[in-house]
Amino acid sequence: MSRLNLAGLSAVLLLVTASAAEAKQWKHAGMHPRTGQPADGLCHIETTHVHSAAPLYGDTLYRTRDDVHVFIGDPTPFGYEGPRHSYYGHHPVVLNVLLRIEVDVDVVEYCYHDGPHYHAYEPPPRQTFVDKEDVHYYAGEYPEEYKRENPRRGRINAVYRPWGAPRPAVTFAPPPQYRGPIIQVGVNVDVRVGSPRPPPPREVIIIREDNDRDHGHGHGHGHGKHKKHKHKKFKGRD
Ligand SMILES: [Zn+2]
Ligand SMILES: [Zn+2]
Repeated sequence: MSRLNLAGLSAVLLLVTASAAEAKQWKHAGMHPRTGQPADGLCHIETTHVHSAAPLYGDTLYRTRDDVHVFIGDPTPFGYEGPRHSYYGHHPVVLNVLLRIEVDVDVVEYCYHDGPHYHAYEPPPRQTFVDKEDVHYYAGEYPEEYKRENPRRGRINAVYRPWGAPRPAVTFAPPPQYRGPIIQVGVNVDVRVGSPRPPPPREVIIIREDNDRDHGHGHGHGHGKHKKHKHKKFKGRD
């Protein structure tokens, strides 16, 4: 029995990662994409475990605490078939709730998925959401930290765009309590592999709630005359 006979010991090594291996190992907790490529599916190990490859899109699909990667993105492109919850736009994600860990102070991160998307998790308690037709909208303030991270974390939209995963069908305007970006994405657009690239959602469309009663009865296209446009400044969106 050689100490080099590591193959059979891999299960044990999972538990003693810190000292056992020279190779870099990447800790994960909770369900996450197996490799980051949609075709490779999901890893369903809920407890903290390691992988020998760095997570693909680690900056956008994951948040880390104590070196542990936690996947917070939409699992749909990776073939997720479990219960899912519909969200619109940017919102807080509480890592300890996601991992069912008891802590004194919530570990709050932010999801930067534009427009309608799915998560496997429900909105966290102690954060304000409003629901409109089964879609969750964050109704709280966005802190400085959220704004500061926006350029980096917002690249998740460029990562997901070519995957063309189904989104919740949202055909109405967000409730006024939602103060995040309202962004035209490929809602109800059937994006297939090999089809022409859909136009990139470059614009933030801010629907003015105060004097426009007509908005929201169309299908999400931003051609209304009361909408104010400005360009997003996300890097890496080209
Ligand atoms: Zn895993
Ligand atoms: Zn989200």
